[in-house]
Amino acid sequence: MGYFRENIERAKPYEAGFQPVSAGPSHDRPRRAGVVKLNTNENPYPPSPKVMEAIAGIDCEQLRRYPDPVGSAFRRAAAELNGVEPGWIMCCNGGDDLLRMVFTGFCDRRRPVAYPAPTYSLYPVLAKVQNCKVTEVAFDEEFNLPAKLAQTGAALTIVCNPNAPSGTFIAVEELASLADEVSGVLLIDEAYVDFAQANCVGLVKDFDNVIILRSMSKGYSLAGLRFGYAIARPEMIAGLMKVKDSYNVDAIAIAAATAAIKDQKYFKENVEKVKAECKRVTTELGELGFGVRVSFANFVLAGCMNCPASEIYDKLVERNIYVRFFNKGGLDDKLRITVGTGEQNDKLLAALKEILSK
Ligand SMILES: *Cc1c(COP(=O)(O)O)cnc(C)c1O
Repeated sequence: MGYFRENIERAKPYEAGFQPVSAGPSHDRPRRAGVVKLNTNENPYPPSPKVMEAIAGIDCEQLRRYPDPVGSAFRRAAAELNGVEPGWIMCCNGGDDLLRMVFTGFCDRRRPVAYPAPTYSLYPVLAKVQNCKVTEVAFDEEFNLPAKLAQTGAALTIVCNPNAPSGTFIAVEELASLADEVSGVLLIDEAYVDFAQANCVGLVKDFDNVIILRSMSKGYSLAGLRFGYAIARPEMIAGLMKVKDSYNVDAIAIAAATAAIKDQKYFKENVEKVKAECKRVTTELGELGFGVRVSFANFVLAGCMNCPASEIYDKLVERNIYVRFFNKGGLDDKLRITVGTGEQNDKLLAALKEILSK
């Protein structure tokens, strides 16, 4: 075309996980029900019933007027949950909205981003759009925090913890040291932290350069709603507020996300179910001969020893089962499998058994 900035002309769009059948009218439900969708790390269980109640309770006046620009109701609920004041929270249109804000706020041609790799494939896409240099520091085989990450001099360092697509977890103390050593901002992407045994929220109290990213998409079953939030010191939040869209979260989303985060009982029950299934899937994949590391997220990365990963992927698709295959170095011998319901996982495991026995 030639109309766009050069970096945009050269950029490749983010590749979203394949959506085999998109949501649609309810008479299509039986057809959709046949698909086992374990490819985009959605929660297999529905959101809290309180969410649907909140949406049903939306008043038309709330739609006529602009929403609360900072989502005060959600801020209060998230602050209470995380043991901070509301001024330490910023609402976002999905965690991805916060990622875009930090690239806009901290990076440009002379201000690079750094992150360990392999990790979330959206980071390089946002870097391209912002036209900033990327320093990727390779993880070792065990996905330990690379020592060199502290010395890149980047304006923005991102660590995804638990990491996608490995599901591995870096200890909070190690990230505290990293926060202390990096020259710029450290964003800790905690999109999957609801399934982990610890989190880094305590670091925002000790370090003015730390931003925590949270998402309502995974643990709270609200990927379609688009809601996430940042936790950081109030000065940092104030800076990010300058970068955000003026009304970045809508009135319906604020009401629904607030209802979800307040229903901790429902949330915890769901998370425990996913964690138990994650353990079972890990064990059973191991018994089938896959190399699977312990995962602290709602997915596992399964190394395929006896059969090419791409072949297994294709054969699963033939059976209407969708997982994620990354056709790139270090990952092209593995499959990333989202933890589903017990029934979905049974279908997956039975299909794999059949595929591998041929
Ligand atoms: C899902 C995810 C996010 C945020 O997703 P949203 O749906 O935009 O909240 C951020 N980082 C990683 C690694 C994720 O997997």
